[in-house]
Parts: sequence; structure tokens; C-alpha cells
Amino acid sequence: MDTAPLAFRPARRIAHIGVSEILKIGARAAQLKREGRPVIVLGAGEPDFDTPDNIKDAAIAAIKAGATKYTTLDGTAELKDAIVAKLRRENQLDYAANEITVGAGAKQVIHNALMASLDEGDEVVIAAPFWTSYADMVIIAGGVPVPVVGREENGFRLDAADLEAAITPRTRWLMLNSPSNPTGAAYSPADLRPICDVLLRHPQVWLMSDEIYEHLAYGNFICTSPVAVEPALKERSLIVNGVSKSYAMTGWRIGYGAGPRPLIAAMAVVQSQSTTNPASISQAAAVEALNGPQEILKERRASFERRRDLVVKALNAIPGITCRKPEGAFYTFASCAGVMGRKTPSGQVLESDADFCRYLLEEHDVAVVPGSIFGLAPYFRISYATAEAELRTAMTRIAGAVEALS
Ligand code: PMP
Repeated sequence: MDTAPLAFRPARRIAHIGVSEILKIGARAAQLKREGRPVIVLGAGEPDFDTPDNIKDAAIAAIKAGATKYTTLDGTAELKDAIVAKLRRENQLDYAANEITVGAGAKQVIHNALMASLDEGDEVVIAAPFWTSYADMVIIAGGVPVPVVGREENGFRLDAADLEAAITPRTRWLMLNSPSNPTGAAYSPADLRPICDVLLRHPQVWLMSDEIYEHLAYGNFICTSPVAVEPALKERSLIVNGVSKSYAMTGWRIGYGAGPRPLIAAMAVVQSQSTTNPASISQAAAVEALNGPQEILKERRASFERRRDLVVKALNAIPGITCRKPEGAFYTFASCAGVMGRKTPSGQVLESDADFCRYLLEEHDVAVVPGSIFGLAPYFRISYATAEAELRTAMTRIAGAVEALS
């Protein structure tokens, strides 16, 4: 009998999913840095600020008080109460504690929701350009991602008629993200109205509203949840949010969801057989983030707004690059259509946004991410969650890179 081990065969559900392209670019940038190159990375979706001290202190106090054991499966009572209060205070939405779920980041909350709801072949409409993980998470859960592109003329927002055309009897969810990663586009109540109207006509479609960048909206823009715009959608919506971006707590891994009890209960089943509760210490920290002083949000928002303005202005001053001014998040999504077909000093013709981004990284030491991986080309995404001085240098390098093209 042949007892030689068989080669590992990945499950079908992950066979076509690679490690995130953004992480790959980050790894290449890190390698170049190790080789001594002064690479500036504008790729990561992470605030450069540190977690505020009051939040860190709450975590230390929790450790000392012995909050180091398993907690209630999908969130402590204290944290669920803090989330209920937050939704009431900031979003004018009423949820009961048993309509709240807490996971290891908004990412786990989304994963739980998809695993809890999708059967093989169920479709999920995703407003594109979209955060790349959405589509892969849908596939892992057995679903079929159906990206619907929001064009730049429409502020990269989902057009209601396009949404309507994409809905089939198998559509289970619409995934909407405002302000958006990667475009920074945000939806006003007037923008949301026609989308809500389409959903009202299709009662089988639930809404997953990812509001993780809610606190990062600039100028007079105020983020409004679609559930507040159309309360009738509350009974088939999941609001997704978390502390990662607002409170600079990406490493703590706390995200939450608010939705109808049967969905929340099904999500708890998924979580109970994967990670159990999110970290007890991080939950205590998140309570302080939500209940504690909020002034720091304003200061940080002002800092992000300055950086947005700096980057948008610098990009639009480069011939061949155009950049819409985004309402929120910490990303710009600029078109590089004007440099397509041009030649680098080493003789390469730029044929795609990926070519352009590779040229910027390999020859000009700036790491940015091609729009094609978010579902719209030829664009590139910049994360401006980086010190202003670095941003200025990066903008000068991008300008120099474009100038060097023939
Ligand atoms: N949603 C969006 C749109 C994001 O960009 C991210 C982080 N990149 C997340 C959710 C996940 O955030 P976390 O898991 O850290 O809460």
C-alpha cells in the first residue's frame, strides 16, 4: 500500500482566493526598505495615530481587575450597553442589547453575517469600487459576489438603477460602505434615498451597512446611516462598525454589528464555533473608547482633513492625474488614465494602473495600490493616514515619476 503523503489540496472555497494584494504590496515595500530604500508606504488602511491613553489605561485596569477570562460569547453586557448608547447618541437609532454582536474586528462581524446567512450560490451585490475583502469573504461563505460599479461621474456612488438591474431572486445582501474604502466617497441622505427605495421594492435583499469610517467625514458632511434614512429597512439591515479606525485601535480587534435578533443569534452560532468571545481586555478598552471623552475624534478628524486637502491638491497639480475630493475616510482614489500608454525611462509602456503603481514603487519609492484590485481601473488608491511631511515627499516623488514619462 502506498502510504506517501498526498500533496495538500486547498478547499474549493478558498482555491481562487489569494493573500490580499494590498498585503503583497506592503511586503514588497518592506523588502525594499530592508534593502535600504527610503520607501514611503501609502498603502495601509490604518490610522498612524496611537490609541488614546485613557483607552490604554482602561485595558491595563481591566487586566489588573482580573478581566482575563472568557466573556459572554458575542460581547460583554458593558460593551453592548456602550454600543446601544452610542447608536442612540450618534445615530438616533434604537437597538436593544440583544440586537448587538461584538467580534474580533468589523471583519469578523461581516464574516459571521455572511456565514450565517448565505447558502451556496446566493448572490451579494457589492457597491464597487469596494474593499477587496468583501468579495473574498462572500466566496468563502459560499456566495457569489456581484460588484456594481459606481462611476466617477456619480461620485463613485452606487447608482440606484444599476442596483435594481443587478438584483435577482437569489440576491441576499447589498453591501454598502460609507464613507468608502477605497474612494472616500460618502452618501448623503439624498444619495441614500433612491437606494433605499430600490431595497424596499425587493424584500428578499438585506442591507449590510459598513459604517466603520463614520467619524472620518470632512467639511460639513455628516454621515447618516441608511437605517436612519429609511427606518423600514431596520428589520433587514446589519449595521457594521468598530473602534479600529475611529479610535486608532486596529490591533485591539473589536468590531460590532447591530441588527435583528434572529440574524444576531445566527451570527453568535458561527462565532461560538470559531473564536468564541473577542478578547476580554480589548472589550474593556472599547467600553472606554465609546463611553469616554470624544474630543480626540475631532482633533484627529481635523488632521486627516488637512492631509486630504494636501494630497488632493498635489495630485490634481500633476498633468495626467485627476483626483476627486473625497468626503471621508483616509483614502484618495485618483485616475491615472492620463498616463496610460506613456513610457518609463527604462522603456516600459504603462498599460494598466498596476503597471503605474509598480513603476512608482520600484523606481520612485512610493507604495500605492492599483484601483483595479478594488474593481475600477485605471485608478490608484492612496491612504493618507501618514505624517504630513512624508505625504509631501511622496507627492513630490509621484510628480517627478510622472514628469519622467515620455
Ligand atoms: N470595513 C472596511 C471598509 C475596512 O476598510 C476595514 C479595514 N480595512 C474593515 C471593515 C475592518 O476593520 P476591523 O476588522 O479592523 O474592524
